[in-house]
Amino acid sequence: MEEKIMSKFDTYFLMKTDDAIEYAKEKVSQIEWDADSMTAKEIGDGNLNYVFKVTDAKGHSVIIKQAGVEARISADMKLDTDRNRIESEILVLEGKLAPGYVPEIYFYDTVMSACGMEDLSDHEIMRTAMLEHKIFPKFADQISTFMAQVLMGTTDVVMDHQEKKELQRKFINPELCDITEALVYTEPYNDERGRNRVFPPIADFVKEKLYEDQGLHCEVAKLKMDFMTRAQSLIHGDLHTGSIFINEESTKVFDPEFCFYGPMGYDIGNVIANMIFAWANGDAAGAADFCKWVEDVLVDVINMTKEKMEKYYDEHVTDTMCRNELYKKYYMDTIIEDTSAVAGLELIRRIVGMANVKDITTIADEAKRARAEKICITAAIDFIKNRSDKKCGKCFLKTLKDAIAEVDAMHKSCCSHVAER
Ligand code: ADP
Ligand code: MG
Repeated sequence: MEEKIMSKFDTYFLMKTDDAIEYAKEKVSQIEWDADSMTAKEIGDGNLNYVFKVTDAKGHSVIIKQAGVEARISADMKLDTDRNRIESEILVLEGKLAPGYVPEIYFYDTVMSACGMEDLSDHEIMRTAMLEHKIFPKFADQISTFMAQVLMGTTDVVMDHQEKKELQRKFINPELCDITEALVYTEPYNDERGRNRVFPPIADFVKEKLYEDQGLHCEVAKLKMDFMTRAQSLIHGDLHTGSIFINEESTKVFDPEFCFYGPMGYDIGNVIANMIFAWANGDAAGAADFCKWVEDVLVDVINMTKEKMEKYYDEHVTDTMCRNELYKKYYMDTIIEDTSAVAGLELIRRIVGMANVKDITTIADEAKRARAEKICITAAIDFIKNRSDKKCGKCFLKTLKDAIAEVDAMHKSCCSHVAER
């Protein structure tokens, strides 16, 4: 009888760098590691997990990502380590639906709650690159392809309905959804757990525009219940610019541990909101070319995603009742509407909520930062309340432009008021 070889990785523990080296050697045996020169570095910068880069002197490398039992951002956020399985499996699936747009997964391990994946160090984190106002001309085309193929490819319109339900069951993700329901759909409007981080100069503005507007709260409640109940597509669930690796040639989406079956506008809206943060950073720095590129991206991401989804719909729709031009138009309209709403929700929660974004927090000049934050919130409220008016990319850019004009007019009238006295 074959004896099972004991390994220190037979029971779960949180790895240190030396363990990661041993682990990579054991689990990624398809690489001919140069054992003596292997080194590991913990490179995690996220809120939740531990990420090791293991390399050797021959130029081999692998990324090992491990889930801990509590979030890095806060010890009282306890999380099921099964999220690493969910993340690995969805990356494999996304890689099939949109080849080349996600890192390759070499293995995943439900004992250690860890996986090994392709090292994407020849790419940069998009948020970091955009803080330097770098431009990526292929981004809108590439991200829209990724979204159209993955999101449309997992809908009931296209998939066998029983297979779809099987995926929905497999990717049910209650704990991570719970975080989104709290941080995106609740706390930015009432600070019920005292965790919001509001920039003091805009505290009064936030109180009036976000905490006290019952009409806004009603819209957010509708959107929250929609997020919780509408199993439309297998969404990434956290598609911000820190979950995108990019270079001149290529775009790769990673970190999909918030994925589940939800409304697809959630992903598209996240991309839009995070591009607006990049715009706000560029604007505060006077980076005109960069801002112009971001504005084009806003328009293109909406229009290209919609076009590609329509094409995908025409080519792949299987549900016979959905093979109907009027229904298709209705379906596309709801996606753009949801995208608008979520762009608004993400803009708000990243300005006032627990997890702020560097694009905004690194604006050193206090007045410029306050202006940027007010522009984001003003645009956000329009994106949420007037979501059904949004039809194409230009509508999204107009919301941003109108918000700038509104905030600047507000500022002007209060300054002239001071001058008059
Ligand atoms: P978390 O779930 O904790 O947010 P991420 O998946 O975002 O973890 O990874 C954290 C960081 O580790 C990323 O911002 C990136 O710098 C690095 N990283 C993650 N995956 C890779 C990869 N495949 N190649 C290179 N670096 C990676
Ligand atoms: Mg991350």
